[in-house]
Amino acid sequence: MEIGVHWDQCEANGICVGIAPDIFDLDDNDDLIVAEGPVPAQLEGDVRDAIAQCPKAALFAKD
Ligand code: SF4
Repeated sequence: MEIGVHWDQCEANGICVGIAPDIFDLDDNDDLIVAEGPVPAQLEGDVRDAIAQCPKAALFAKD
């Protein structure tokens, strides 16, 4: 799977960072950073949890 972001909806509250810190991060400007490329299989569960729990519905799976 790959991750899509509705950038206009993200409010950089860091919920996804807390759930899947190997995939999501916030930079010094509190902008969201998403690891590029396909999500490693062992992290897909965490990423799907992050997608489900994003309070702004800013994340989606591309596949
Ligand atoms: S949980 Fe959603 S709103 Fe919060 S930082 Fe992640 S993508 Fe943005």
